[in-house]
Amino acid sequence: VLEARDVRKKLGGRLVLDGVDLAVRRGEVCVLIGPSGSGKSTLLRCLNRLLTTDDGIVLLDGEPFGYRLNGGEPHSEPERRLAARRRRVGMVFQRFELFPYLTALDNVLLAPRHFGTVGGADAVAYGLELLRKVGMADHAHKFPHQLSGGQQQRVAIARALANEPEIVLFDEPTSALDPELVTEVLQVMTTLAAEGLTMVVVSHEMGFARRMADRVLFMDQGRIVEEGPPTQVFEAPENARTRRFLATIG
Ligand code: ATP
Ligand code: MG
Repeated sequence: VLEARDVRKKLGGRLVLDGVDLAVRRGEVCVLIGPSGSGKSTLLRCLNRLLTTDDGIVLLDGEPFGYRLNGGEPHSEPERRLAARRRRVGMVFQRFELFPYLTALDNVLLAPRHFGTVGGADAVAYGLELLRKVGMADHAHKFPHQLSGGQQQRVAIARALANEPEIVLFDEPTSALDPELVTEVLQVMTTLAAEGLTMVVVSHEMGFARRMADRVLFMDQGRIVEEGPPTQVFEAPENARTRRFLATIG
C-alpha cells in the first residue's frame, strides 16, 4: 500500500533519516519503536507528506503522491489527483491536535465537508457513525476541552478515518495520556487492526505490539536496523542496539 524507498531527510543540518526503506502491505500493522531522536516522527511525517523528503521516494499504491508536480498548475487535474491521494493517508498525533473551537462531530466532519465527499444530513449521520466506532457518539456535541485525553484521542482517530484512508499513521497515540486512559485508546486501535485497517504505529506499548503487530521495526539514528515479527524482535533481537533499547523500556 505505502512504500518508502531510500528516504533521506536533513533537518537543522543533521541527517535525521538516513536511507529508510519500508513497504507496508494492505492490512498490515507495523509497530515502529526506537530511541528518542531516532527519526520515528520524521519518518511518519515524510510518509504522509507533511514533510518533503530530500532524497528517495514515497509511493501510495505504486504511485508517487503528495507534492506539486514540477511546474504543475496549482489547480490542474494532476495536482488534484495528487492531493486526493494524500488524503488517503490518515494521521493521529501524540497530542490529539483537535480544533478547539469545533465540536467532536465537527472535528470529524471538517475534512469530508471541505472536500465535498459528504454533505448535509448525510454528513451528520456519517460523522456519528464514525464516533460510534470509537465509542464517542454520546459526546458528539462536546468541545475538546470538555473531554478527557483518551476521549479526545478517540475523536482524533475518528477524524483520521473520515476520509476513508487506505492507511493510518499513529505517532505515539497514548504517550500523552494518563495511564488509566491508555487502555480505551488501545482498545479502539485493536478493533481497527482486527478489522483489517492498515496501520503504522509508533509506540512503546509492548502489549499492543505483541498482540497486534504483524511486524515490529526498530529504528536507530535514522535507519531501520532490525525488523521482524514481535516475538522475534522482542525475544531474540539480533542487533545489539535493539537489545540495549529493549532493556531500557523493560
Ligand atoms: P521521540 O521518540 O522523542 O519522539 P523521534 O524518533 O520521533 O523521537 P524525531 O522527532 O523524528 O525523533 O527527530 C529526529 C531528530 O531530528 C532529532 O534529533 C530532532 O532533534 C531532529 N529534528 C526534528 N525536527 C526538527 C526540526 N524541525 N529542525 C531541526 N531538527 C529537527
Ligand atoms: Mg517522535
